[in-house]
Amino acid sequence: MSTPQKARPENALEIKALRKTYPARGNEPAKEALKGVDLAIPRGSVFGLLGPNGAGKSTLINILAGLVNKTDGGVSIWGFDQDRNPRMSRASIGVVPQELHLDPFFTPFEAMEIQAGMYGVPARERRTAELLDALGLGDKMHVGARSLSGGMKRRLLIGKALAHSPPVLILDEPTAGVDIDLRRQLWDFVRRLNEDGTTIILTTHYLEEAEEMCDRIAIINHGEVIANEPKADLLSRIDRKTMTITPVDPLTDVPAILAREAALDCALGADGTLSISYSRSETTPGAILDLVRAAEIGIRDVMTQEAGLETIFLDLTH
Ligand code: ADP
Ligand code: MG
Repeated sequence: MSTPQKARPENALEIKALRKTYPARGNEPAKEALKGVDLAIPRGSVFGLLGPNGAGKSTLINILAGLVNKTDGGVSIWGFDQDRNPRMSRASIGVVPQELHLDPFFTPFEAMEIQAGMYGVPARERRTAELLDALGLGDKMHVGARSLSGGMKRRLLIGKALAHSPPVLILDEPTAGVDIDLRRQLWDFVRRLNEDGTTIILTTHYLEEAEEMCDRIAIINHGEVIANEPKADLLSRIDRKTMTITPVDPLTDVPAILAREAALDCALGADGTLSISYSRSETTPGAILDLVRAAEIGIRDVMTQEAGLETIFLDLTH
């Protein structure tokens, strides 16, 4: 059965008015984690679901994976309605969960084979060794899962999610707690999968990660989607930037000439650095540096940064 033979749908995923309320438990009140989410994820995209911790990303992913029951709304995966056609919709996605749960008693090879078996992939169609090789686990195929590092476990979970060759792969915070080298490897692997036709959905709370990997980004906050557009459009709407100046002599006050500029929001760091938050639509780095020079601040170093997620939410919700 492996890959479902539905004609290639326009959208790999369609989510309509999706709600989830976790019931009250002990002293914990009921929690409305998803408040009516609508999303259509085009086939072939690398789609980023970006949001801070607690936004509802994992709840959404776990509903797609069939691990959490939705309260209301509709989910269709690769054109298959999750309620009416649960088997085909499940066969159409592979999900890499946020938590690194693995059965310690199986080797990577065994874990992959069991997974393929659960999805009814015939032995001759299994790609166990090929996938483990591609994930850099070729030499770990037959060791106990207990001896795998965190990064190796993450890669094995990706392998398991791909064991039935689904057309859609969902990764929940794939690089949380993963070092830079491995992050690069994972990104390369995911890009190649996408080039070969797999639709990718990943969640992250890092803007840079969504920016680097995704062609389309949705932002979710407090269980609501507050933006959903092509990456370039979204980034151009993010207006706030911050310039940090390390002066030759540490500052003790924000110079008046800067403090009185309405377009700038200045703050002193404990180490005497000056950070200046500004809107790209209102001023330019050049104009700010002119003011800094006019204030007779010697510049040792200058750094500019995109706004963090919190500022972006303010930008987008205003
Ligand atoms: P994210 O993955 O974006 O960090 P989650 O989907 O894990 O967000 O959580 C969304 C909200 O739902 C949070 O307030 C979280 O505490 C709550 N939540 C998540 N899982 C459960 C659960 N099993 N029971 C009760 N509340 C939960
Ligand atoms: Mg999560």
